[in-house]
Amino acid sequence: MGIGHDHDVTGGAAGAHAPGGLAGAQTAATAHRRRLKIVLSIYVTIILAEAIGSWLTNSLALLAEALHMAVDASGILIALIATYLATRPATKRRSFGMMRAEIVAVLINCLLLFGLGGYILFEAVDRWFNPDEVAGGGVILFAVVGLIGSGISLTLLSRGSKESLNVKAAFLEVMSDGIGAAAIIISGILNLLYGWNQGDAIAAAAIGVIILPRAFMLLKQAINLIMQGVPNGIELAEVELEIEKTHGVASVHSLHVWGLTSGVSVMSAHIVPDPDATGGVTHARLLDSLTETMRERFGIEHCTFQLEEADHLLHEGSMHRDLAGMNEAPSVSGGQDVGHSH
Ligand SMILES: [Zn+2]
Ligand SMILES: [Zn+2]
Ligand SMILES: [Zn+2]
Repeated sequence: MGIGHDHDVTGGAAGAHAPGGLAGAQTAATAHRRRLKIVLSIYVTIILAEAIGSWLTNSLALLAEALHMAVDASGILIALIATYLATRPATKRRSFGMMRAEIVAVLINCLLLFGLGGYILFEAVDRWFNPDEVAGGGVILFAVVGLIGSGISLTLLSRGSKESLNVKAAFLEVMSDGIGAAAIIISGILNLLYGWNQGDAIAAAAIGVIILPRAFMLLKQAINLIMQGVPNGIELAEVELEIEKTHGVASVHSLHVWGLTSGVSVMSAHIVPDPDATGGVTHARLLDSLTETMRERFGIEHCTFQLEEADHLLHEGSMHRDLAGMNEAPSVSGGQDVGHSH
């Protein structure tokens, strides 16, 4: 809490609002970078083992899993680069630095996943109609190696899964790898017991299918960030209510809450202070209590409040007036002087 946005910092705007401070430590994935590196090296080992295994046993499912894990590994690598970029200081050209590199990383990962899912399904259908002789024992052996590696990766990643889009992506990846490996092992057992070769095509298809819903989910999250949608876990109506409840606020309009990147929420709002508030709340005090409320109640680390006189709204564009409900009945009475003319 309270990262990079300390209003007690003396020395003026440079200290409190330097964009570098915002970009500095807030991307949640930073802490998981080291863990991701270990996972990455486990992956490379498994990919090599499964690729060799696929060649030795003639199993499409093992090849599918090796390719799948190669895409996973590249996803983790892209995530690593993105979290590194996100901590780079802001520049004069990019006031947010590269905080949104994570979204680009997730989109690239999605593209790779969709492509691979389609390819594996295509190959699996082909294998079903033209089954090859598969060495069941070897398939089981290499799949178990993959399963152990996935298990270790899963344990390493599980703690970060709630905090960052990319770590969550990686976590879901590893979990589905486990399911894929289980499918391969079952197909290997069926092959050993009954000499059934088409189980390999089914296991491969399962690996292809598992990829798709996760790819869609990631795409949805990334698009919500791009569209500047309200972040998951925050209700706009609650934010509005919380602002209206704050002592010294007469009304609020042009309220926006969005995510800069996963785990970093920002907001802006126009506030009409109540000049008749008991105790005579100064604008400075009002800003302090609003900012604290946003951080403590919603975890929003960077707020921008524009404090206005009630009749200022008449000078704003129709977009603001719509948001304030002025073209209908005023929702929150702020003593808006509709008769105010120029
Ligand atoms: Zn995977
Ligand atoms: Zn306004
Ligand atoms: Zn501020």
